[in-house]
Amino acid sequence: MKVLVIGGGGREHALVWKICQSARVSRVYCAPGNAGIGELAELVPLTPDDVPGLRRFAEQERIDLTVVGPELPLSLGLVDAFAAHGLRVFGPNRQAAQLEASKAFAKALMRQEGIPTPHFGTFSDPDEAQRYVSEVGAPVVVKADGLAAGKGVVICATVKEAREAIDEIMRARLFGEAGDRIVVEEFLEGEEASFLAFTDGHTVLPLASAQDYKRAFDGDRGPNTGGMGAYSPAPLITPALADRIVQEIMLPAIKGLSQRKITYKGILYAGLMVVQRGFHPPARGPQSKGGSTPLQGVHSPKKGGETLDFGLETLDLRVLEFNVRFGDPECQPLMLRLKSDLVEVMEAVIDERLAGVTLSWDARPAVCVVLAAEGYPGSYETGKPIAGLESLHAWQDGVVFHAGTARANGAFVTKGGRVLGVTASGAEIGDALAAAYRAVEQISWPGMHYRRDIGQRALTRRVMGDE
Ligand code: AMP
Repeated sequence: MKVLVIGGGGREHALVWKICQSARVSRVYCAPGNAGIGELAELVPLTPDDVPGLRRFAEQERIDLTVVGPELPLSLGLVDAFAAHGLRVFGPNRQAAQLEASKAFAKALMRQEGIPTPHFGTFSDPDEAQRYVSEVGAPVVVKADGLAAGKGVVICATVKEAREAIDEIMRARLFGEAGDRIVVEEFLEGEEASFLAFTDGHTVLPLASAQDYKRAFDGDRGPNTGGMGAYSPAPLITPALADRIVQEIMLPAIKGLSQRKITYKGILYAGLMVVQRGFHPPARGPQSKGGSTPLQGVHSPKKGGETLDFGLETLDLRVLEFNVRFGDPECQPLMLRLKSDLVEVMEAVIDERLAGVTLSWDARPAVCVVLAAEGYPGSYETGKPIAGLESLHAWQDGVVFHAGTARANGAFVTKGGRVLGVTASGAEIGDALAAAYRAVEQISWPGMHYRRDIGQRALTRRVMGDE
């Protein structure tokens, strides 16, 4: 069969790499792809937001399955447009994609379905939002309702900062119409985790757990980015906690949508904050600060080789956001670990027969270290020649997934902020990390930067568990 993948980042390289391994696939296309993807698939010069162009291409080439990487085409109704022409697509339709495209929609659904999420208010009037912030106090999080390329969330330490954020988003319209409505949310402290599942609107089939690193610099400092690294599995997400996430969050979400006549098909991704149980947010008032206590002593392992118990009873979950597609970079270690045929799983989602599917995973942990351009996530230069990739062509421990790369005169050059995702597996998380960082040392370009502490959280937990 012929498969078209839409997008051109590390996530899409990992998806193309995995799809190429399916015995059922004869040809893979990617629009627009990148230089690394170009080694595996035929690149199509169409952008992800060109829904009519992509649909025409899929019809002309008789594409059997289209896989959508990023959220934008989903929110533009790509799945609806393709389905109307009898084309098979993996991903949620426009209505279902509102779960990511509108934070107000997602928060309202969570409130109605009893899904745990930080306290919040939704506002279309900046004056009302300002009054609310004065009432509830800081710290507080101000979020543009619509898609803002991951930049629409402002964490405000003071009421003054929150008032400024409201002005910038709603009055100066920093994110355009995405900020015509905002959500103002209680600030939570805890540990973040990503939880991804396949769903056909009836069954929820979780992927292996993963955690990513959003901040630009070591020690979780610096600005938020699209993601500087990830690892899988995440020791924080024990099987028992994963089960709670399915019961308390994932199933209520798809059932709530189904009651609204929306069948959610695709990947459902919950961005979670795991917080200490027992925290009851104070009634919000002018003096109240909100927030929660950081995770401390939660992961006290038992001695004597017993199964790790992170104190399930002491943990609570809160959904910070839903995404309607694979996370990037989490997708990279996940695809490296997935043993099942991805195409078969995607077809089962489309045909609503996921109940009969199980996923099989490589037990070895995997990590991804993102190599970024100087200046990222701010402005950066492109066109820098990348040295060292040839030596990793036959790399045994993993794959160097490309994100922002192009070819110039036959050589690889940088073409984006996040440039490469060096993804490796190993017997233990420490081995995977060592392999990934050894590979990183072979790659260079002027200004390349990356975090040196990817996986340390998991490593610490692992070591504590081994005591
Ligand atoms: P979002 O796109 O809503 O997931 O927000 C992006 C990032 O902002 C999250 O991954 C968190 O690091 C942070 N964030 C969002 N909401 C909150 C919150 N209520 N409390 C603390 N941090 C938050």
